[in-house]
Amino acid sequence: MVEKPTQIFNRNEIPRAVDRIPEKSATLEFKPEAELLEVDDSPEIKEIDVAKHLSNLPDNQFLIYSPTALHNLGLEDRMFASCGRSDHDTSIAFAELKKIDIPKNCEEITVFGAGRAIDIAKYLAYMHGKKLNIIPSLLSTNSMGTPFGCYENLSEDRTKTTLHTGYADKILVDFDYLATLESGRLYGLADVLSITTALHDWDMAIAQDPSVQNEPIYQNARKIATSCFQQIEAGALDNRTIFNLIVNSAYITGLAGSGRPESGSEHIFSKFMELEALRKNDPMMHGVSVGLGIALMATLQNNKDRQHLFAAIRHLGLVSKYKGREEELAKLAAYVLTQLDPHPVRYSIVNARLNDLENTSFSTDLAYTVVRALLRPKDHE
Ligand SMILES: [Zn+2]
Repeated sequence: MVEKPTQIFNRNEIPRAVDRIPEKSATLEFKPEAELLEVDDSPEIKEIDVAKHLSNLPDNQFLIYSPTALHNLGLEDRMFASCGRSDHDTSIAFAELKKIDIPKNCEEITVFGAGRAIDIAKYLAYMHGKKLNIIPSLLSTNSMGTPFGCYENLSEDRTKTTLHTGYADKILVDFDYLATLESGRLYGLADVLSITTALHDWDMAIAQDPSVQNEPIYQNARKIATSCFQQIEAGALDNRTIFNLIVNSAYITGLAGSGRPESGSEHIFSKFMELEALRKNDPMMHGVSVGLGIALMATLQNNKDRQHLFAAIRHLGLVSKYKGREEELAKLAAYVLTQLDPHPVRYSIVNARLNDLENTSFSTDLAYTVVRALLRPKDHE
């Protein structure tokens, strides 16, 4: 069961960063940063020098890290003085996580990694009652800021469980380090753009059952998505802005007590897509599967922001690593679309169009049209 956390609404509205798209100019006067929502019990956010921080990690820390991220920092050979460590190649299945032993003298858990490693750390901190410090190695999902973790029930199983783990105690962020990263830098914004399709699903759910309405949360979520479109259009996507947008998309789930404001039909698709890619031994980044899910579901929804969404997904390059492999991606997406199950409680476009989606020729047509439109936009203008 998901426990409903205390709700506190932000006192400051998220400022409109720009009222209109500025002309290309070196003297932009507006403040590009989107401001963080104020949320009860949310993590303390501190800027750090990550290399220095990890090199001087206190003895009471259990470190969970992404080997690639550590390698990028040139720290892979370093013997950590911490009392325990685990790399993130562990499966994210519950059965495997339960085997990880945390030494008694480890009072806190520090994780240096992205989505998967962070979810593992959240589970361990929650199960063992430890404080949790998250150092994002990549802004690739919003998991650093949500009070939820997502886990496979069994590695070979096609199901996942979302668990309410609570927020981390601290998010420690090194913007200089993040600025050195190339690929995947913008992937986390998929979890911000997904608000747009999730809110359409929410509208559909409200039409079915008015009691699921929550106007303040809905409007706050809408503002985060609008702010994201504005920042993209203004070309104002520095790492601090990206970080704030992503963390806000996470906080809004904490305020809502569920993923509903940012996780709708596009995340149903992404979950099945990631599991299918995993079964094919070709893991797919969350930002890629969500990006594609947004485009597919926005099309199915006839979403009023569809054009904005397609432009943003192309601009952020969410699926561009599949350029030249359109056929492969479309084929996989078409298959996954026929396999979708609706969310157990949250009504969405997947419920409404399940019969169509189960029809192979319908799903194939949808997948090929959307993949081509994303990767070969010239053909579709
Ligand atoms: Zn997500």
